[in-house]
Amino acid sequence: MIKILENYDLAKLNTFGVSAYAKFFIEINHEDDLKELFSSSLFKDNEKLFLGGGSNVLFTKDFNGIVILNKLKGIDIIEEDSEYVFIRSFGGEKWHGLVTFVVDSEYWGVENLSFIPGTVGAAPVQNIGAYGVEIKDVIENVETYEIESGKKRIFTNKECEFGYRESIFKNKLKGKYFISAVIFKLNKKQNLNSKYEVLKKYLEENKIEVKIPRDISDAIISIRKSKLPDPVFIGNAGSFFKNVYTNQEKIEEIKKDYPDMPSFKEFEKVKIPAGWLIEKCGWKGKRVGNVGVHEKQALVLVNYGGATGKEILDLSMQIITSVETKFGLTLEREVNLI
Ligand SMILES: Cc1cc2nc3c(=O)[nH]c(=O)nc-3n(C[C@H](O)[C@H](O)[C@H](O)COP(=O)(O)OP(=O)(O)OC[C@H]3O[C@@H](n4cnc5c(N)ncnc54)[C@H](O)[C@@H]3O)c2cc1C
Repeated sequence: MIKILENYDLAKLNTFGVSAYAKFFIEINHEDDLKELFSSSLFKDNEKLFLGGGSNVLFTKDFNGIVILNKLKGIDIIEEDSEYVFIRSFGGEKWHGLVTFVVDSEYWGVENLSFIPGTVGAAPVQNIGAYGVEIKDVIENVETYEIESGKKRIFTNKECEFGYRESIFKNKLKGKYFISAVIFKLNKKQNLNSKYEVLKKYLEENKIEVKIPRDISDAIISIRKSKLPDPVFIGNAGSFFKNVYTNQEKIEEIKKDYPDMPSFKEFEKVKIPAGWLIEKCGWKGKRVGNVGVHEKQALVLVNYGGATGKEILDLSMQIITSVETKFGLTLEREVNLI
């Protein structure tokens, strides 16, 4: 039986650590809870928000509806052959918990995605990615419930329309489906992805000869710990903005004034690291009241303590304006504004 709480503070349920009150709040612990939830009038009559680890949301105000915390747990091997193993994980599992299970079982595919906060169920929403790998590379199917009808639907990888920090669940079908479980296809044989420059350098400098997925996973954890602030100590949601994709013409225009600008050709577009643009606008390490831009990583906005979501939103707007004014490029937020 689901328990409904009222006027619930979400401060401990988002990694920015900002306070925001949900009119109603419930936890989903079993798939049966979902059936009960979908048929309740409370659910039908209110705005809804499904929440995982709260590591990619910014609450800018109280939520005048029902917040549903996903606690569906369970990881199973459902099929395997000599080459691949198929693993089904419920959406309320911690993403890094699943990675640990896979890495310890010596299957390949998610080791580069070690130590990303959040849940398995939210991971396909923005197609999490890091160090040259995206979750789309290992997803077979995504199991969902349609929120309107409560009916089950399985999306194939292709149907998820994955892109850079994008999927159908963040675009066309935003707020329409709840992801209950994800099925992953992982390699039993070594399938190394160590081309990403920072990772390659780390492995070389530390003379690490990769034999098992744990070798990569440990390297990634160490790199991430040295670069990114831990939300346990300082509120943040990882990269607040997406990198910018533009055309060669624009790159050449900017390079006239900034010949050192890093840019990377990716298919027919060119990527500019958003962190570089923000840094060049003088924001890196800057503090404005309770909020600021992290000193080591200009893409990360932080809550020094006691900040409201509105303060973080305002800072993000100032950054967007200055990048637009200086470079004529529009930054897009990666974090979901609620
Ligand atoms: C320190 C730090 C580092 C990070 N590094 C990375 C990184 O390297 N790469 C990367 O891609 N991301 C990164 N992130 C962002 C974040 O970890 C991911 O986006 C993660 O997948 C969010 O999971 P969550 O469970 O916390 O989602 P939430 O923040 O709880 O939710 C995010 C969005 O998904 C929706 N949602 C949540 N669960 C479900 C569900 N079951 N069904 C449907 N919709 C749902 C929510 O409504 C919301 O819109 C980082 C964040 C932090 C704090």
